[in-house]
Amino acid sequence: MPTHSLPKQGRSHEQVMAAVHAFAAEDPEDRFGHMSCYAMHGSPGVKQVIHDAYSVYFHKNSLIRRYFPGYERMETELLEIGAGLLGGGVDGVRTFLTNGGTESIFCGVHAAREWARARYPHIAEPEFVAPYSLHPTFSKAGHYLGVKIRRIPLGPDHRADPAAIAAAIGPNTIGLAGSAPCWPYGLVDPIEELAAIAADRGLWMHTDACVGGFFLPFAAKAGHDVPRWDFSAAGVMSISADLHKYGYAAKPCSMIAFRDESLLDHHYVFPDEWPSSKYMAQAFSGSRPAGATAAAWAALHFLGEDGYVDLARRTIAGKRALAEGLRQIDGLEPWETDAGILVYGSNDPKVPVQQIVGGLTRLGWKCGGTLEPPLVHLVLDAISEADNEAYLRDVRRVVDAIRAGREIEEGSLSYVD
Ligand SMILES: *Cc1c(COP(=O)(O)O)cnc(C)c1O
Repeated sequence: MPTHSLPKQGRSHEQVMAAVHAFAAEDPEDRFGHMSCYAMHGSPGVKQVIHDAYSVYFHKNSLIRRYFPGYERMETELLEIGAGLLGGGVDGVRTFLTNGGTESIFCGVHAAREWARARYPHIAEPEFVAPYSLHPTFSKAGHYLGVKIRRIPLGPDHRADPAAIAAAIGPNTIGLAGSAPCWPYGLVDPIEELAAIAADRGLWMHTDACVGGFFLPFAAKAGHDVPRWDFSAAGVMSISADLHKYGYAAKPCSMIAFRDESLLDHHYVFPDEWPSSKYMAQAFSGSRPAGATAAAWAALHFLGEDGYVDLARRTIAGKRALAEGLRQIDGLEPWETDAGILVYGSNDPKVPVQQIVGGLTRLGWKCGGTLEPPLVHLVLDAISEADNEAYLRDVRRVVDAIRAGREIEEGSLSYVD
């Protein structure tokens, strides 16, 4: 029996808000507000400006745009900025807003399937061939869409192994995919090689840049060496990129990008067999929050290119400093990662990663992890030296306690339970 039901009588504004604040009081922010969990904050001021922009449009539906020319103009500007950033200098890239990375990936797999149906009508059981580290959302989308996602073991560097992927292509293969970077290790797959194989074999190629799409272009501008991952890699047909990660926008907001206009026939679905007018949504979702569009527009214009480049530079510098600090702690092994994700493992069986996570969780850090192999997983903002120091101090404390044999409960490496 459910224990909560709709109250018979409405409550006052004050009562409602007191209750909502009471819920929120149980959900503490990250210890420093900008480390170790799945929310990127950007610089001070971003949160306020996206909040304010969101609230102007919070009650509007981006599906119903007939009476909102201002909204359309704002969305078009956002889509054009996205096409520029994800395009890698290629003209004619087309973008659409979605309710998140999951929907963007769904749209990429869907367009690939429709494209393949036209090109290879004999393929009844289409499949993608992809690295093992590809986000689970592909398997979810594939399940809905009747597309099998075949995951191929990674190379020794934990990136996609292009030779193994090429060898796995079979008569039912319609596409390849790779990540820029992948979530479990923060590593960019060799997209250019995968895309070249796809082009050569007449296959679709999708880059999942959900966590890197709005970071890598700025890291490159900051002078970092970024391997090709965008449409500048010939053969890439679609890209998923989340504004609500390193775009510092409010959720839900992501983008699906297609290489050119000719692919849009495989994206759009406008059914008309019902009693009302033609149903025209931009992607898979119907109603979408116009507030999320306004917040993304606000973040991009509040920070500007200089702001994003500065954040990318500081995020990478902070990540390297943190990795260096972790390396100094006996038993810990930070990885060399791309973009803003840092992972570290343990090379000492007496210091298991699960216990490090358990100890850090008890000290108030929100932790996530990777299972194969066990790694602590950090999605970093531009962290200050003081935050770095505080984190390292606590890691040292936890590792010392584990070595001293003090009992530390194992923590969970999962983000979602
Ligand atoms: C976050 C993420 C996704 C899924 O995005 P949602 O916005 O959570 O739906 C997919 N792929 C990668 C690489 C991601 O980081």
